[in-house]
Amino acid sequence: MNIKNNYTVISNRRLTHKTWVMTLCGDTGMINAPGQFVNIAIPGKYLRRPISICDYSHERGEVVLLYDVVGEGTGAMSEMRPGDTVDMLNGLGNGFSTDSGARRPLLLGGGIGCAPLLNLARTLKRLGQEPVVILGYNTAADSFGMEKWFEEIGVEAYIATVDGSAGTKGFVTDVIREKGISGDYFHACGPMPMLRALCQGLDIPGEVSIESRMGCGFGTCMCCSVEAAVGAKRICKDGPVFRKEELIW
Ligand code: FAD
Repeated sequence: MNIKNNYTVISNRRLTHKTWVMTLCGDTGMINAPGQFVNIAIPGKYLRRPISICDYSHERGEVVLLYDVVGEGTGAMSEMRPGDTVDMLNGLGNGFSTDSGARRPLLLGGGIGCAPLLNLARTLKRLGQEPVVILGYNTAADSFGMEKWFEEIGVEAYIATVDGSAGTKGFVTDVIREKGISGDYFHACGPMPMLRALCQGLDIPGEVSIESRMGCGFGTCMCCSVEAAVGAKRICKDGPVFRKEELIW
């Protein structure tokens, strides 16, 4: 099965001052776990840009990407129109585990790191787990109502904002404390300081999806290697999801 294919943009919509959602259609056969990512070619740019798969449907042949416009590459993505053709490597990385045996996993997202949690929640729910989602943002203006997307699939969801302008004031860990939420595993994606705090502070097993600048996206160029407890790991190929004990914090 080819990981490199052409996809057609179905829609590309602005959600906030910086966040967009794009739906593409094409071959999804290579996606086999929530938390995998695509590496999207940007015309005129040498390096592709990695973006997590927020959601997908094998039945409809659709992939949903949620992205923040932070530079020229993501800026060019925001200019893409329905009907445009996009060259994309799909189904990259290991993705989140779905066999943790957890009953009530906590799904913890920070900023655009909330993106891959949607399909993860859908998948864990289908497998009989009862996920609880907590989304953290800096301010209400950064949030685009993603908690409602979880509620639509029957998953309990909360938000925290650092400035207290929506939800609980503070971080995702403040929601856990304030609401007395308990879980038996955690899956997290977000900025490194958040992931470090979770791995050091939560006394339940868990895993985190980490980001870095990357080149090829499929393990050949080695430019996204990180030092891990068991030796050098490539974020794109061995990750982006790592069990907390695999990484040196
Ligand atoms: P650039 O001009 O390349 O950079 C603009 C700014 O963003 C710079 O400050 C730069 O340091 C910073 N930046 C660039 N790339 C990264 C990166 N990989 N990690 C952290 N900071 C970066 N972004 C999303 O919006 N949605 C996603 O779902 C998403 N998933 C990702 C999954 C993986 C596995 C990885 C590695 C990254 C993911 N990213 C995601 C980050 C995204 O790849 C970058 O924001 C994007 O490549 C920036 O490209 P640019 O040309 O717009 O900006």
